[in-house]
Amino acid sequence: MQKIVSLCKRRGFIFQSSEIYGGLRSAYDYGPLGVELKRNLINEWWRNMVHSRENVVGLDASIIMHSKVWEASGHLAGFNDPLVDCLLCKERFRADQAPRIEPGAEARLAFADKGRAKVAEKMLREQFELEVQRRGKEIFGVTAGDRGYCCPVCGSPLLSEERQFNLMFKTNIGAVDPLGSVAAAIAAGEFDGLETSEIRARLDAASRENAVYLRPETAQAMFVQFQNVQQSTSAKIPFGIAQAGKSFRNEITIEHFIFRSVEFEQMEMEFFCEPGTDDKWLDYWCKERMGWWQQYANHPEQFRLRPHEPEELAHYAKACYDIEYLYPWGWGELEGVANRTDYDLRKHAERSKAKLEYFDPVEKKRFIPYVIEPAAGATRGVLVFLLDAYTEEEVPDAKGDNAQRVVLKLHPRLAPIKVAVLPLVKKNGMPERAREVVEAFFAHGINARYDEQHAIGRRYRRHDEIGTPWCLTIDGQTLEDGTITLRDRDTMEQRRISVEAAVSEIEELLRA
Ligand code: ATP
Repeated sequence: MQKIVSLCKRRGFIFQSSEIYGGLRSAYDYGPLGVELKRNLINEWWRNMVHSRENVVGLDASIIMHSKVWEASGHLAGFNDPLVDCLLCKERFRADQAPRIEPGAEARLAFADKGRAKVAEKMLREQFELEVQRRGKEIFGVTAGDRGYCCPVCGSPLLSEERQFNLMFKTNIGAVDPLGSVAAAIAAGEFDGLETSEIRARLDAASRENAVYLRPETAQAMFVQFQNVQQSTSAKIPFGIAQAGKSFRNEITIEHFIFRSVEFEQMEMEFFCEPGTDDKWLDYWCKERMGWWQQYANHPEQFRLRPHEPEELAHYAKACYDIEYLYPWGWGELEGVANRTDYDLRKHAERSKAKLEYFDPVEKKRFIPYVIEPAAGATRGVLVFLLDAYTEEEVPDAKGDNAQRVVLKLHPRLAPIKVAVLPLVKKNGMPERAREVVEAFFAHGINARYDEQHAIGRRYRRHDEIGTPWCLTIDGQTLEDGTITLRDRDTMEQRRISVEAAVSEIEELLRA
């Protein structure tokens, strides 16, 4: 991971957001190469999901949506996680996911002792708790409550109170300052003598008046626009609505570079089908989506489809599969494919009173469609393909000695730059000829780049490292007979070919 993070910065794939001001934790900027890779990935998804299917259409909805959408979808309630801080090691974690305390089990205690982290001996849970109580009293003047769980990092049961925390980013629309009315009420003494919880409720109510939320998923827009899309396109069931775009979650744990960030991109599709056909379509979309990821991978065996255990299923889902990737830290989610039943359409219909139904003109019947949702992470996909492509190889150098090269074996359709055009030297008309070749690629819509810096060997290595599948070298012979050297990134084979043949061959290879 560290090698990839450093390559991303060095070569201009991904930078920390606001880096010159110390960086904003968990937000990232995609640099000149990263933006190409991310766009290519999303374009490939769109080509497969929308442009290759008669029954799927696209949508680009606003990121800010009415707060009633999130009330109806359950996000305003469901995205509330009880959060706890560990008083010893300061870890913040979700109470519902914390390890339970088992009497009699062994535990190892790491505690922060006046700024120094110490690891105590392994001890029985009973001794451990006594020790925690003793130290807790000594350092914090508190004793552990009977919570039944402990800190996932240091095992301490010395914890703060549970606090509700909403993962959605809230903001306010319009010029009205929600704090104005609160300030006036405080000045008028209306808050005097109120309990903390009552004050909290008043503040919440005031801030909710013109509150809107940044979407935590792209999916809800497809449900709330179901009727508009279906009627404007006269779509017949089964059909899908696809959308790719930004989502925002105020994640508690931020981890593994762009794997989990607060601002990220998703590629989601809601596939509306007749109840009773949903199992068949879930199966279909699992296969389609697994195949899609694997076709771009060097190591397809690093992807797997994992069914959710019944207790893992979201309350609205009838069945769900995760497409997982074997990250350096283990298997983790890349995409979820869920049977969401008619839950979302039904909830929105109840709340909004809109008729979110489908009328089958052949069977002459009305019903609320079931929904199969393949929901993928686009930015997480970028990380997966960087991990999949990153390769270190031993290759002979110019003198025939063993040298190491780093090569990003990105699928050509994902590669940020498709062709690098390199004049052997910066004179004798070679730069001019090379620029003509770049123009020839541009004319075919292929992202080619001119590169004249450093010796030719170093230029090859640089393009290996950023995943450019082909390098074309212009030399003295090019000016005589119009041929150039075509070098393949993966095999490093070089052969002479005419400029015209190179353009059409590469165009053909990119289409495959
Ligand atoms: P996780 O269990 O990893 O938190 P999730 O089950 O909450 O993910 P979904 O709501 O199913 O995720 O979202 C669909 C996809 O969106 C995920 O498979 C993942 O690829 C991506 N995704 C979700 N949250 C984030 C995030 N904070 N940063 C980057 N990608 C994300």
